[in-house]
Amino acid sequence: MDITQTIFKELDVSYGSDNVYYQIISAILESSERLQLPHHLKLLMAQPKNEIIVHFPVRLDDGTYRLFKGYRVQHNNVLGPYKGGMRYHRSVSLDHVKALAAIMTMKTALVRLPYGGAKGGIKVDPHALSHDELMRMTRRFTSALCPNIGPDYDIPAPDVGTNAQIMAWMADTYVNLSEPENRLGGISVVTGKPIEYGGPQGRDKATGQGLVYVLDELLPETGLDVRSISYSLIGYGNVGSWTGRLLQERGAKLLAVMDHTGAIHHAAGIDATALARHVETTGGVAGFASADSITTDEFYATKVDVFIPAALEQMITEEKAAIIQCRVLAEAANAPVTPAGERALLARGIAILPAILCNAGGVTVSFFEWKQNRQSESWDAATVDRELKRLMVAAAQRVRASA
Ligand code: GLU
Repeated sequence: MDITQTIFKELDVSYGSDNVYYQIISAILESSERLQLPHHLKLLMAQPKNEIIVHFPVRLDDGTYRLFKGYRVQHNNVLGPYKGGMRYHRSVSLDHVKALAAIMTMKTALVRLPYGGAKGGIKVDPHALSHDELMRMTRRFTSALCPNIGPDYDIPAPDVGTNAQIMAWMADTYVNLSEPENRLGGISVVTGKPIEYGGPQGRDKATGQGLVYVLDELLPETGLDVRSISYSLIGYGNVGSWTGRLLQERGAKLLAVMDHTGAIHHAAGIDATALARHVETTGGVAGFASADSITTDEFYATKVDVFIPAALEQMITEEKAAIIQCRVLAEAANAPVTPAGERALLARGIAILPAILCNAGGVTVSFFEWKQNRQSESWDAATVDRELKRLMVAAAQRVRASA
């Protein structure tokens, strides 16, 4: 029996080996074996401290009611308050949220932020709701979670399907439900807020910016220079589109992009800024005039220096890994590669830059926001960038040293 099976047997739980939670915990447990950590620490890491599920009704615009299911999983808080995003997506499930919460524990520890790890969300397609329905759902979800979150206890943030407006509704609901003496510092219960409501400069681009700093630091040893690379992207939401725009400023060439609406390719390079405008107005990359439409397999097989998955978990399976043509894969999404996919990529000599490093820029700027809120400060954009770069480069160097 391997270490994962041994630990799960002792905890009396069972998961299929293709379950995302099983895969994340087995990566953590295999590493803990190499580090020869004591058995009780492995047990602690293999299950979250708290798994909270709430059901709450929301009145829709047509007067009917719908019952929603929301989650908050608090994986570990040894290094500080629980910290992690809130996801609104149809794929949200307890095991997904558990896996993402465990990843947050690793991510905050790697960057040495004073936080643990958590994740939450609602199983919903946010695009199918009106603005008012989204607000009512968010406020009702926050009030259901109120006793379990707090500026010193558990601090939500944006993730897939959520944004600064949703964070403002969460913070406002929390503040209004707090005792008067706690209201002053209440907005630091949530990060990723709009600038007008205590948010930091540059939170939107933070994850993409962090990835660019990691590439600056780690690509040279693979013989690549970020200013002259070609690359492809899966996903053109917050992380993908900011990565595209920031890499374009450096001179890198975006050859292909795929999202839930289709895949596109342009040999001379896709204009990342024009594509961001197109996605904002149409909802996806399909139909972008200055590129050709290609199939999914053609997308994966496009030869690039760096392949960047910036969408959901477990997209790079063994089959996809067999056709990807790149030298480096940078995990901008959380857990985008399955364990079999990872083995296949490594066997082909493709270097993988891990998610807990590549996408840590978001939570790092969240930390700056939380710190500014608590110290009644407001940093300018140059200070945010400088501090982000400092922490991301230090984290990249730690990853290089342990790799
Ligand atoms: N959702 C982002 C992540 O997965 C940010 C989390 C945060 O800022 O707390 O890292």
